Amino acid sequence: MTIKTYKGFFIDLDGTVYAGTNPIPTAKKFISELDARGIPYLYVTNNATKSQEDVVAHLKAVSGIDAAPEHVYTSGMAAVDFAKKNYPGARTFVVGEPALQRQVEAAGLLLVEKDIEVVIQGMDRFVTYDKLATASTAIRNGAAFIATNPDVNLPTENGMMPGAGSLTAFLKISTQREPLIIGKPFGYIMDGALERIGLTKEEVVMVGDNYNTDILAGMNYGVDTLLALTGVTTVEDLEEITNKPTHILNDLSEWRFE
Ligand SMILES: [Mg+2]
Repeated sequence: MTIKTYKGFFIDLDGTVYAGTNPIPTAKKFISELDARGIPYLYVTNNATKSQEDVVAHLKAVSGIDAAPEHVYTSGMAAVDFAKKNYPGARTFVVGEPALQRQVEAAGLLLVEKDIEVVIQGMDRFVTYDKLATASTAIRNGAAFIATNPDVNLPTENGMMPGAGSLTAFLKISTQREPLIIGKPFGYIMDGALERIGLTKEEVVMVGDNYNTDILAGMNYGVDTLLALTGVTTVEDLEEITNKPTHILNDLSEWRFE
């Protein structure tokens, strides 16, 4: 079997590199191999509550993996890249956590609570009615409505908790407007990731554990996909899916680089 040689890898985190607070050792070996061969890669994650440095620290703590901040690309960063490109310097209101607010400011967007031109909404564990009301009013008055990622729930040790998508649903209902959604499985995050890695669609592969986010993101965008069966999607799920990933592996140790 010939395996295509890719010049770059986009890699999901939870379920692919670690499982919550547990390491996935086969992923660590895979990453070391990328490092040893000098193959560029980006961790592409829908989690918009973490900064690049937060993700680096988590990778080290959970998996003992050394990463550089430049290896991390979150849906929050992609939302900010999109806003910066399409609404440079815009008066921006954030429903989101401090990491997202800092990314907005670093991109030269103006963090405001009045005369809002752009609303960027992500996961916000400190959300209040006032925040949602401000966002809702701005969107009704014509502000752009950008959501970081569609994940409705987050798996935690206490069960499934509301995620960014649940807050988006609140704003959708209250404004009757559709957001532009940045994260996987949508293409905007892939646009940003491709720009950062500096390669073409043909040269990269999207690696992940979740067919409905990672693999569909790759397929929708027109890049090859690699499903690792270490997380959400199971062999049984795959039986019902006609449009299969380009590559399916039990875990990343099965990947052959040549
Ligand atoms: Mg995952």
